[in-house]
Amino acid sequence: MKLFAIFGDPVEHSRSPLMHNSVFKNLNYKACYTRVHLKDGSKLKETFFNLGLSGANVTVPHKEAAFEACDEVRGFAKTVGVVNTLVNENGKLIGYNTDADGFMYAIEEFGEVKDVLILGAGGTAKALASRFMQDKINVTVINRSENRLAYFKDIGLTCQTWDSYKTSKYDLVVNTTSAGLKDEDLPAPQEIISDMLNNTSFAADAIYGKLTPFLKMAKEKKITYKDGADMLLGQGVLANEYFTCKELDTDDIKSHMSKSFEL
Ligand code: NDP
Repeated sequence: MKLFAIFGDPVEHSRSPLMHNSVFKNLNYKACYTRVHLKDGSKLKETFFNLGLSGANVTVPHKEAAFEACDEVRGFAKTVGVVNTLVNENGKLIGYNTDADGFMYAIEEFGEVKDVLILGAGGTAKALASRFMQDKINVTVINRSENRLAYFKDIGLTCQTWDSYKTSKYDLVVNTTSAGLKDEDLPAPQEIISDMLNNTSFAADAIYGKLTPFLKMAKEKKITYKDGADMLLGQGVLANEYFTCKELDTDDIKSHMSKSFEL
């Protein structure tokens, strides 16, 4: 029996155990997935191996710590320095990022998107910004604090803080901050959020399972919006493929993960 887990702080809200266990149970894969509340990201690697895990997901705020903890980082995660999926490969910790492709899957229904405003400058913002750049999408990043914008400036993106916010037209505004996750905060002052929503066609939030204050405002303004549930599904399917070394059929994984959302 293989054991998998999600690490985070907070982690109680995570649907990942339900999603992965639904796949394992229904496809008779001998594995179990649990959650680990980890406060200190520097303890990630030792906790992973002490628990005898075969793989794990990593959520807020440890994705950058997960990158540091890896013996080897593969694919897109190398570009962004952010890891959300860990695999134990013969005692070595291998890191991947499945968030960005999960998000691209989620916004397919919005059609072509050319200009995006990202709220937040954490791990998820880095992954999405770099992924958007791959598709030649124009990206602007706005964050509460200036220091975390350095990465985005270095890769040539337009960056703003609340003080330097300027009105511009966007196809999509996406909230990647954790404002609204365990509180009822907006990701920026109300007048700024209101203005950006007045100038976008679509709004998306990485947070799932609740109508955040950000999405509530988008709804009031009758803007097409979506929460992070499809992103969660997309990243989960890709992570499960890494966990099971592609032994399971992708459509089967997707189907059982989707069903777990109805529980
Ligand atoms: P990080 O901790 O790396 O980054 C958090 C960001 O949020 C920082 O830019 C921080 O700003 C900002 N922030 C936090 N609180 C506030 C606030 N009250 N007001 C304004 N800005 C704030 O987090 P992650 O990037 O790992 O995750 C971000 C969110 O995305 C989480 O809610 C997570 O649950 C969600 N997520 C969902 C996924 C899905 O599958 N649906 C996948 C990945 C993430 P500052 O720099 O100023 O501190």
